[in-house]
Amino acid sequence: MNAQNKIRLAPDLLDRFRAIVGPKGWTSDAETLAPHLREWRDLYTGSTPLLLKPASTEEVSAIVKLAAETKTRLVPQGGNTGLVGGGIPFDGNDEIILSLQRMNRVRALDPLNDTITVEAGCILQQVQQAAREAGRLFPLSIGSEGSCTIGGNLSTNAGGNAVLRYGNTRELALGLEVVLADGQVWNGLRGLRKDNTGYDLKDLFIGGEGTLGIITAAVMKLHPLPAAMATAFIAIPEPQAAIELLALGKAATGGQVTGCEMIPRIGLDFVLRHTPATADPIQGRHPWYLIMEFSSGRADGSIDATLEAVLAEGFEKGLVLDATIAQSEAQRAAFWKIREAMSGAQKPEGASIKTDIAVPVSQMPAFIARATRAVEDYLPGVRVVAFGHIGDGNIHFNPSQPEGWDREKFLDLWEPISDIIHAIAHEMQGTISAEHGVGRMKIDEIPRYKPAIEIEMMRRLKRVFDPDNILNPGKVVRP
Ligand SMILES: Cc1cc2nc3c(=O)[nH]c(=O)nc-3n(C[C@H](O)[C@H](O)[C@H](O)COP(=O)(O)OP(=O)(O)OC[C@H]3O[C@@H](n4cnc5c(N)ncnc54)[C@H](O)[C@@H]3O)c2cc1C
Repeated sequence: MNAQNKIRLAPDLLDRFRAIVGPKGWTSDAETLAPHLREWRDLYTGSTPLLLKPASTEEVSAIVKLAAETKTRLVPQGGNTGLVGGGIPFDGNDEIILSLQRMNRVRALDPLNDTITVEAGCILQQVQQAAREAGRLFPLSIGSEGSCTIGGNLSTNAGGNAVLRYGNTRELALGLEVVLADGQVWNGLRGLRKDNTGYDLKDLFIGGEGTLGIITAAVMKLHPLPAAMATAFIAIPEPQAAIELLALGKAATGGQVTGCEMIPRIGLDFVLRHTPATADPIQGRHPWYLIMEFSSGRADGSIDATLEAVLAEGFEKGLVLDATIAQSEAQRAAFWKIREAMSGAQKPEGASIKTDIAVPVSQMPAFIARATRAVEDYLPGVRVVAFGHIGDGNIHFNPSQPEGWDREKFLDLWEPISDIIHAIAHEMQGTISAEHGVGRMKIDEIPRYKPAIEIEMMRRLKRVFDPDNILNPGKVVRP
């Protein structure tokens, strides 16, 4: 945005927005605003004249109506844990932040319909807890669950560690309440598993990153609480073994594999070096590790026996080098702590270039081999850390800077290095953003990898739903 395009909001207009939410519902205080203006990894910062915190759908609707009337730009925000700069306003652009955090009520829970109706600002952990108290499972589980909100999860179609068994956020959503760009409220809070009465409109807002409407509430699916879990930390020789073990696990459990996460030795070393209260679950050094988790509705020990049988078969086939099964909830949590610490443990090792690619599960070993070779050829000494949701065909392939290198010098290579990785993923029928979305980070890169007709359909939708481009402009797609 160049200088003459910069927008300045008149003070009386700001007063009109403030009046909608009352004294508790806004702030312009620099210190309070600071955490809302900085992305979690410090990759993006922005500015705003005003942050609004409406307490009801009616207030959101009134805000958006006024924004539509005055062509004021709004940036919706939940927990601000997104990783592509989607919730950060542009600097000097006078975009108002619309935080949903005060809309955090559980509106209803219907155990026999297996649904929970929640407001967009509910923290994910709060939803998991409410479900658990009703003897149900809300299976969405991601590293940021203590801060991210359901509205943010829906808007980014968040994935996480249980996608393999329960699907991503899209598959957990049955109905939405959305405030449209003209301020009208669409109440689509239906708890139906079947409804073929035309286009599935909710799917447009899920993964829409706040560019088509403001999600204010949702009906989400619940599942039975598993009666037993069996979790193994497994040393494997190579990524191919991970997907072959996953196939064995799926066959043995009839589809009850709930987690399948891969960790490279270098990643485990980083975690052990930098994360307090972590320990190597397996003696000796092995090239790769897999956390594999099964769940069952029966607490009769059969799921442990199934896991043991899968590991024994894997051992015979050379897929397993060594393994340990969690004997307690504390041990299970210790395995998962290593997985959750992966991203943070790269930080003290210097700069790292983050990617979020997916390829078909069967192609993942070839992808890792090709991309590692290509990145190492480009920059000898680079330390490739490839970890994550291998069961979904999605890994974070995150090269760390060579030891002793200058941080900024390495970050200058973000584009060429991520280009190498993305080109290989694309060639293998993959995607460059499996979980995190597009936001402002990938808005100009996505058109290189998506067919032009897909970008054109996205543009048309944006123009129909938000003709004045007031909802999160400059994110996902340029109208
Ligand atoms: C440590 C860590 C681990 C993570 N692990 C995962 C993971 O495993 N899988 C994964 O998918 N993601 C992961 N993430 C990314 C992030 O947590 C998710 O994308 C999360 O869903 C974002 O929720 P939020 O409430 O923080 O949204 P925000 O960051 O506030 O917003 C994200 C986007 O949604 C829009 N938005 C927010 N609320 C609304 C609303 N009510 N209506 C319309 N638009 C809205 C914003 O404008 C923005 O574009 C991780 C992040 C961190 C920091």
